[in-house]
Amino acid sequence: MTATNIDQIVNLCKNRGFIFSGSEIYGGLANTWDYGPLGVELKNNIKRLWWKFFVTSNDNSVGLDGGIFLNPIVWKASGHIDGFSDPLVDCKNCKTRHRADNLVDNKCPVCGKSDFTEARDFNLMFKTHRGVVEDQGSVVYLRPETAQNEFVDFLNVQRSMRLKIPFGIGQIGKAFRNEITPGNFIFRTVEFEQMEHQLFCRESDSLNFYNTYKQKAWDFYTKVLKIDGKNLHFKDHEQLAHYAKAACDIEYLFPWGFGEICGTHHRGTFDLGNHTKHSGKPQEYTDPITNEKFIPTVIESSHGCDRVLLACLCDAYNEEKLENDTRVVLKLAPNLAPYKAAILPLQKKEQGELANTIFRKLSQLFPCTYDETASIGKRYRRQDEIGTPFCITVDFDTVNDNAVTIRERDSMKQERIKIDELGAYIGLRIL
Ligand SMILES: [Zn+2]
Repeated sequence: MTATNIDQIVNLCKNRGFIFSGSEIYGGLANTWDYGPLGVELKNNIKRLWWKFFVTSNDNSVGLDGGIFLNPIVWKASGHIDGFSDPLVDCKNCKTRHRADNLVDNKCPVCGKSDFTEARDFNLMFKTHRGVVEDQGSVVYLRPETAQNEFVDFLNVQRSMRLKIPFGIGQIGKAFRNEITPGNFIFRTVEFEQMEHQLFCRESDSLNFYNTYKQKAWDFYTKVLKIDGKNLHFKDHEQLAHYAKAACDIEYLFPWGFGEICGTHHRGTFDLGNHTKHSGKPQEYTDPITNEKFIPTVIESSHGCDRVLLACLCDAYNEEKLENDTRVVLKLAPNLAPYKAAILPLQKKEQGELANTIFRKLSQLFPCTYDETASIGKRYRRQDEIGTPFCITVDFDTVNDNAVTIRERDSMKQERIKIDELGAYIGLRIL
């Protein structure tokens, strides 16, 4: 069973240190969230696994970490200044703002009246001013997507790394969109993190690569993050952007319904073509053998890091009925779990010191936690709730046999293991 109600996830996240609402002591700030101590570990694990799968272990792929501010002409070339907007109306009665295309029966969802201003296009980019003069010439935008860095640095990367087509550029970073629609926890936020990979190839190979990357995204979710394939589906775009040959999302079945977590997009030569036009510098690849020059075709694989994290949490969430108890357990894949092991002395006075030594030693190998308060049963439940795959109990016999009891989260099976073998035992099971 996975989470059936988003409140189960929101509460667990807040109470167990995964995600807090932003600026909470000041009443919060709509649509902003802070990742707590366990949330940042989980998020880092997702990013590390994505980076390995799409960049370092991927054929001919390299990484990039571009700036959040780019020359505003980039957003002219990408179409964001002219076309990246929602039609909005203001309610004249209660002064709230709504998306015109989301109104049901043309009634205000806040006050129920039906008295609106004319719809106006509202650009989704965050705009600010750079430098000391606040005029049109100093306008800069917080990037609404990370992909443009990969396009404007395309030739720098290709030349400095002497890359031959097909090759890819991957990037993880923050993007910003001035969304006014509320967001289902961290699903839709104004500030979010993207994990994107652009493959540059020949047009004749592009549909093949499109299918390869569509499948690669599926494999990332089902084989690396171990999300249940029954809760995922492909969804082809019904309306394609005018330049796109094909586009397909992967959606996860969240408690409120299916929601997009990733997209594979055939972007053609749209981006590099437009940057050629606006910069006046040909964004062309030169074939080293034939000297043929052409603008490469791009296959994009785009993943919303925060949405992926939410999908992992919903998918891992379980409430299990035991003999005389119910336990909440996050069955996160061990490679995702914030802590890999918890070290628990049966009694603080008797085994506390030895348990602490084991904790400090194992913490050099992977993230661990130490807990010496409450009964051992309660301590197991705490670790189940945050997804720790292994609990190590130091007991009365440990001093005599140099061994501990190790309990596996999902099966709750226990085994006796020598202290010296703990690192290797757990190390093999958290890959
Ligand atoms: Zn109203």
